[in-house]
Amino acid sequence: MVRLPRVCLCCKSLFDSAWAGERVCLRCKGTTAWRNGGSVAASNFGQSASRSGRKGSS
Ligand SMILES: [Zn+2]
Repeated sequence: MVRLPRVCLCCKSLFDSAWAGERVCLRCKGTTAWRNGGSVAASNFGQSASRSGRKGSS
């Protein structure tokens, strides 16, 4: 695999991207929890859990 230096869309600094589609450095992925992915899944999980709980009580 060839790692090319890219400019992070988040912090605008150069980083070594693991693949062509990677646009955000690992540090920003960690700090932002990568909103488009993990964070959304996590919030959906929490909502579904609270929703099922509410449904059960009513
Ligand atoms: Zn960054």
